[in-house]
Amino acid sequence: MFRLRRKILLNFWLILLFAALTHSLMAQDLTLRVGQESHRVEGATRDGKSYFRLRDIAAVLELSTNETSSRIDVFGPRGTLSLLDGRPLVHLGDQYILLTGPVWRRSKGNWYVPADFLEKVLPGILNLRLTKESDGTYRVQGVGRNRVRVEFLNYRDHLSVVFRSSRAGVTTVQEFRDYVEVRYGEYLVNADSIADSPDQDLIGSVKFVPEEAFGTFRVEKGDRFYSFRESRLSDPPRLVLDIFPRPGTARSAAGSAATVDLPAAAGSGTSREPTDEDPGQQPRIPVIVVDPGHGGEDYGVDVYQDVLEKGLALVLARKIEQRLVASGEGVRLTRFRDVDLNAEQRSAVGNFHRAKVFVSVHVGGAPLPQTSGAVVYIYDPPPAEFRVAQTKPEDGGGEENDHPELVRWNEGQIGYLNGSRRLANLMQTELNKLFGIQNKVVEARLAVLAPVMAPAVLVEAGFLTNPEDLEMLGNDQFQETLAYTIVQVIRKFLESR
Ligand SMILES: [Zn+2]
Repeated sequence: MFRLRRKILLNFWLILLFAALTHSLMAQDLTLRVGQESHRVEGATRDGKSYFRLRDIAAVLELSTNETSSRIDVFGPRGTLSLLDGRPLVHLGDQYILLTGPVWRRSKGNWYVPADFLEKVLPGILNLRLTKESDGTYRVQGVGRNRVRVEFLNYRDHLSVVFRSSRAGVTTVQEFRDYVEVRYGEYLVNADSIADSPDQDLIGSVKFVPEEAFGTFRVEKGDRFYSFRESRLSDPPRLVLDIFPRPGTARSAAGSAATVDLPAAAGSGTSREPTDEDPGQQPRIPVIVVDPGHGGEDYGVDVYQDVLEKGLALVLARKIEQRLVASGEGVRLTRFRDVDLNAEQRSAVGNFHRAKVFVSVHVGGAPLPQTSGAVVYIYDPPPAEFRVAQTKPEDGGGEENDHPELVRWNEGQIGYLNGSRRLANLMQTELNKLFGIQNKVVEARLAVLAPVMAPAVLVEAGFLTNPEDLEMLGNDQFQETLAYTIVQVIRKFLESR
């Protein structure tokens, strides 16, 4: 009796296993509702994850595609995205978006995408919005319009660029070398009117780029452009960029930037960035510098070529940046795109901007798949006898270098080690909680940290060689949590100084 029941039970499990393997029995189709009509999108299951047939989605949304053996491009009204067979990374414009699973080409013309493709990637090329109605059903709707007007307000010490919009949507502000970009999400932007800049030396013109995100404005920097601050106001929704001129170049006689908390002028030492962007010996407003590791030809860890460290580092860094900006901090990234920078260029960005904290973001790879969790690194200086110049040991926490002396480029970090260690310990503790593991801070002679004249750490936020870490790191929600944790640590560190 007992034996018989076991046999039945065994058969039952075998059938279930068979069902799981043959996707058609388990796969759930997707319904896209457009107006009164319902369209079916074929579903499939692979490695326990839901996939949907791209061809069906493209047909409903009227997207055209172009396929080669391992790649498919999808053309939408607002942009193009590229998918690679077996990769979870989607290329959209100049950014990469990481899906929860790899794209799957079952046969020619028969591509399948993981379920999160719908909400995470597709809106980037559409004029439409997909709203989840229930499990397996999405409603396709037109995106609301956001009318945006650009105006200027002239103040004695600065110029305000005001983006007045009809709806309170998501906006992100990002500084590039030649312009400041204001990127809108959520609603499609109509640029109603753009006034002429009253001070062409401070900023050039404001340009509207409709095909970037839901509409993007670029504020071109003029010769006197020095720094900016962003603020958000409601009723009506406004985003304000206060643009400050380089000190001493104000047009009006009494143009002292009273509202700007400028640090005391810094001695340049040898720690200034060799860049033509640098106007002279002027001080900068301290910011937090986030360095996405690797980039360009330097892929970082690419164990399965599925998830590349360079892409993930940039995704994480941007999430960290967004959260820091939202909490009112000034932030600079060392790279915004998929480009290769050497270690010196990265630390140079930190020193050029007088970073108050420098965080280099990486993910790890290890020979053993068991190695997991986050590891925080700080700089381990060479023994004193190998240093060319002796520097004064740190004063206090060493965070604020009010009287910087001439410090050799590669010894910039030595005066800040106490602060770095404190930041690293805080970060390691919090990340250990997140990963549920007991890793320790590691000291290493990392070239990217050596010159940084600020508390500086390098974080390896999990291991791509560990299956569980890999799974988590591919998850958008986990990435957000990771970014949140790192930002909380930075803020706690800065507040406790
Ligand atoms: Zn790395």
